Amino acid sequence: MVAEAPSAGRLFLITGPSGVGKGTLVAALLQRHPQIWLSISATTRAPRNGEVDGQHYFFLDRSDFDARVAAGGLLEWAEFAGNCYGTPRQPVEQQLASGRPVVLEIELEGARQVRQSFPSGFQIFIEPPSFEELERRIRGRGTDSEEAISRRLERARVELEAASEFDAVLVNADLDQALAELERLLGLA
Ligand code: ADP
Ligand code: 5GP
Repeated sequence: MVAEAPSAGRLFLITGPSGVGKGTLVAALLQRHPQIWLSISATTRAPRNGEVDGQHYFFLDRSDFDARVAAGGLLEWAEFAGNCYGTPRQPVEQQLASGRPVVLEIELEGARQVRQSFPSGFQIFIEPPSFEELERRIRGRGTDSEEAISRRLERARVELEAASEFDAVLVNADLDQALAELERLLGLA
């Protein structure tokens, strides 16, 4: 747990089940609003095709990840579908202090930790139009093994039940409409 950073910037957190379209929405948001700073997470997951270290994630082995946890270098961290993911603390605090809007795109357990440490942050839950559509999107993305897909779908059922904990719930049915709604929630529309 951390004390809240003395910041002029605002912390926005985006969560929701794997495959719902978080990455797609955030990429579109950043393209339209380059003043937003997106946190780059650390993970023990192996890079997918086309993922670049330091750009999509900082890819660490488990002992390096554990060392960062032990040194207090992560703002939050969680295990998800067999891998560890965490938010490097220092850059988030720096960007908030500099007054930039900061976006974290993380899973449920991490979101709950951030809710404790940054109670003034704004947390948005992205929902799929249906569970069947979520499954179609995960499969259609074509990046995960059958085992990884099963773990993600199993976890998705738990995550979807937590939607009411969040400051706002946004259904990602039509992408353009969801993006417009996200901009409105972030005060950018
Ligand atoms: P997440 O980051 O939540 O795991 P992605 O952004 O990788 O999800 O999206 C999963 C898949 O769903 C991708 O193939 C993406 O192109 C597709 N997708 C995202 N949003 C929509 C949408 N509104 N309608 C249809 N497909 C979408
Ligand atoms: P993926 O393997 O699909 O990139 O990500 C799997 C899940 O981990 C997604 O729900 C994503 O939001 C989440 N995630 C990514 N980075 C972090 C992080 O730093 N902390 C936490 N708790 N979850 C993260």
